[in-house]
Amino acid sequence: MSKWMIATNNEGKLLEFKKFFEGKVYLESFKSIGKKSPEEPHKTFLENALEKARYASLVSRLPSIADDSGLVVDYLGGLPGVRSARFASVSSGRKRQQDEENIKKLLGCMRSAKTFAQRRCRFITMIVALKSHDDPDPIVSRGVWEGLVAFEPKGERGFGYDPIFYLPEEKKTAAQLLLHEKTEVSHRGKALKKISLELFKRFKN
Ligand code: IMP
Repeated sequence: MSKWMIATNNEGKLLEFKKFFEGKVYLESFKSIGKKSPEEPHKTFLENALEKARYASLVSRLPSIADDSGLVVDYLGGLPGVRSARFASVSSGRKRQQDEENIKKLLGCMRSAKTFAQRRCRFITMIVALKSHDDPDPIVSRGVWEGLVAFEPKGERGFGYDPIFYLPEEKKTAAQLLLHEKTEVSHRGKALKKISLELFKRFKN
């Protein structure tokens, strides 16, 4: 089975990638190879994803896939956007606590948005895949998932902002979806689906 590197230390994201490539590719991550994920200093998802993918291929010597993603809220002029992972400042560095504080801060910022019409938002991802750290021809894919900021968290699954990402047609939050249901409709699932054939063609050993 081919081995690829997923440029993340986010357990929630990794689970989604593992579900997508189940039985087809063996996936390493920064944690499994004992490396820290790099800083994400840029203003765009694309630049951050490219930097993560390059670093991941360099340290693992494997083909890599990086996703840089975030929640874009219209009412907040696009925030938290590329700063979604660390929207609230948290000292402990524990992922679960960071997610909870991010949600608390976002709900606080949305207090004056009383109707769902004011609560439109979307998850955006940019996925960049490289065969090696010096690959001059990255595979790039963008995925978008539209929703509304819920008034309160609901659901136990997923990660990040899933408990407050409300899907009006399903009458559920993303955290109430099963993993395969989320992958079917999510920004990440859609972006991966677009490039999966090309990935298998270009990355096969
Ligand atoms: P980054 O791509 O590592 O910068 O992190 C993206 C951040 O955006 C995550 O830590 C989450 O807070 C948020 N995010 C991205 N995708 C999702 C998702 O599918 N569900 C919930 N939150 C997400």
